Amino acid sequence: IFNFAAGPATLPESVILKAQGELYNYRGSGMSIMEMSHRGKEFDAVIKKAESDLRRLLAIPDDDYAVLFLQGGATTQFAAVPLNLCAPGDAVDYVVTGSWGDKAFKEAQKFCKANLSWSGKSDKYTKIPSFEGLEQNPNAKYLHICANETIHGVEFKNYPTPSNKDAVLVADMSSNFCSKPVDVSKFGVIYAGAQKNVGPSGVTIAIVRKDLIGNAQPITPVMLDYKIHADSASLYNTPPCFAIYICGLVFEDLLEQGGLLEVEKNNTKKAGILYDAIDGSGGFYVCPVEKSVRSLMNVPFTLQKSDLEKKFIEEAAKEGMVQLKGHRSVGGVRASIYNAMPLAGVEKLVAFMKDFQARHP
Ligand code: PLP
Repeated sequence: IFNFAAGPATLPESVILKAQGELYNYRGSGMSIMEMSHRGKEFDAVIKKAESDLRRLLAIPDDDYAVLFLQGGATTQFAAVPLNLCAPGDAVDYVVTGSWGDKAFKEAQKFCKANLSWSGKSDKYTKIPSFEGLEQNPNAKYLHICANETIHGVEFKNYPTPSNKDAVLVADMSSNFCSKPVDVSKFGVIYAGAQKNVGPSGVTIAIVRKDLIGNAQPITPVMLDYKIHADSASLYNTPPCFAIYICGLVFEDLLEQGGLLEVEKNNTKKAGILYDAIDGSGGFYVCPVEKSVRSLMNVPFTLQKSDLEKKFIEEAAKEGMVQLKGHRSVGGVRASIYNAMPLAGVEKLVAFMKDFQARHP
């Protein structure tokens, strides 16, 4: 089966087999990792290795950034970011390039003065703005972006700089985390739910510049306070141990593949094949997203004969290509091709698309 789901999503087969192999008896301990205390030596080694491998993958500077393994999904970070980075009356800026950025913007309005710097809504979220066109508040504490919009398939290829030199850039990288190298030093906070590229659902990773930690609003629940989690090395309370363990295996696998430059090369190749098939179909398949900002991870497209979409998705599923239905809010088709989607999966989809088109002239 090739699983094109947007998340939870396909994970490397080798990782799942490795986890299966040690599921019942973790490395000779006689226990499963999911049965062990989060304060025991085995899990301590798991979480420390996961963190150090992630630091290697993204070249995260030890001295300047905390890496936090959190719960509550990226959705919880929509609140945690303003609660940690500003006081109630402070201004912050949001660039809204799709549904997820919009959700983050709306949540922030509860905790500070959130301004809309730019919205792609009137273009049905098919664009990324030119950075000169952003309306930034001179006093904003941060500028928030969603680096890859999972539903609309638009991805930032480079990043804006906040106009206030004391402000930081904050990015929701849930759906393109670890899909390519990122210069972490450009960001104040990066956060990502794990369940697309790096693990199962249940753990959310936040990479936070250390000087931003420790100023949470007084009403901030302990579970949302970066300082609480940074001071206790993500072990303030019981963390999502099993999810962190799987993320650790994925990080090892990505390092073994040669790191994120190699991963990016593969992702670029896979996405290129799929977008070429769409653009070369003579209009049978259409991707609405502006070419220069098309996502390497989530490829949304429609069929010109929209009444055929249901059949397309059903027939693909019968041939072992599942979860191709577009998000319920936009319809159409969406192929999510995260790191773990093999090239063979994309090639099979493209062959199916050509065959389907030939059968429906
Ligand atoms: N941000 C992006 C870009 C997403 O794709 C998602 C979920 O798909 C979320 C945020 C919400 O994540 P969660 O379900 O982990 O709260």
